[in-house]
Amino acid sequence: MRAITTLPGTADSARLEEIPEARDAPDTLLVDAIAIGVCGTDLEILSGAYGQAPPGRDRLVIGHENVGRVRTAPPGSAFSPGDLVVGVVRRPDPVPCASCAAGEWDMCKNGKFTERGITGRDGYASERYRLETAFAVAVPATLGDLAVLVEPTTILAKAWEQIERIGARASWSPARVLVTGAGPIGLLAALLGRQRRLEVHVLDRVTDGPKPALVAALGATYHTGRVSDIPPADIVLECTGVGDLVFDVMENIGPDGIVCLTGVSSGARAIPINLTALNKQMVLENNVVFGAVNANLRHYQAAVAALAQADRRWLQQLISRRVPLERWPEALVRGPTDVKPVIVFG
Ligand code: BGC
Repeated sequence: MRAITTLPGTADSARLEEIPEARDAPDTLLVDAIAIGVCGTDLEILSGAYGQAPPGRDRLVIGHENVGRVRTAPPGSAFSPGDLVVGVVRRPDPVPCASCAAGEWDMCKNGKFTERGITGRDGYASERYRLETAFAVAVPATLGDLAVLVEPTTILAKAWEQIERIGARASWSPARVLVTGAGPIGLLAALLGRQRRLEVHVLDRVTDGPKPALVAALGATYHTGRVSDIPPADIVLECTGVGDLVFDVMENIGPDGIVCLTGVSSGARAIPINLTALNKQMVLENNVVFGAVNANLRHYQAAVAALAQADRRWLQQLISRRVPLERWPEALVRGPTDVKPVIVFG
């Protein structure tokens, strides 16, 4: 069968190639791939800057944003042939640490976890793959290939869950949310903010393309200026990982404000900051700044629920291009009107 593989650590080494079928294993589904989303992490892997092949192998099958259709399911499992299914990205570390032992592999303490399509485990960008039933998430058939948005939505489902858990430290009635970055992650962060009936502001650099209208369609406000032009928010979801912006949002939160950092970037430019002043503000205003990565089963369930109640036409516009597997390299090139390109199988 065909799969997109790469040599982690080597730029531009990705290729579409024939690989053997994944071996049958107990309690696994055999899944026919439907679509794979391409995100910043994939581009980093393909540039050679990130990623790790499975033990004893050179090449890694990429793809972690996934949706497929069950071809075979073990008897007695909760799945049947024909079901739409999304595979979880991370697998617990083998020790396991206390978090992984509790099913919270997204909070792994020893870093020995694996991630399908990213770290030490083949991804989902093959025509068929095996998926353990314990790491398979059922999605409503009505979502169709929009379910490829489940995995990126899990990142925000976790971010929002943790923001709410932190907010619960005291009586709390947040009103205003700032999202920095109107890429797929920022747009999904805004969607989840609007589903919570909050006032949402989204800041990005671009003035044209689909982003301003996508933000407006949510009932949120699109900005292209500076963070300081927007009234201080109670909650910030920073979705760019750009250092300057990270500090701008930290300096512009309101009292009891919570900043969730979800983005990473590879920029190496040093930024002078007054940490003493920032410390003073954070202490005197009870501010919290925290990072959030990955997602556990709770977040997959929350993400499926959020997408199921979202406007399908809006979700359709997030998928800006569907590139057939044979033309996969086209999905790696970001055009000015791109939001999320996906690679479609068969
Ligand atoms: C994925 C996460 C993963 C992270 C770090 C992200 O692109 O969505 O599941 O944990 O990269 O590897």
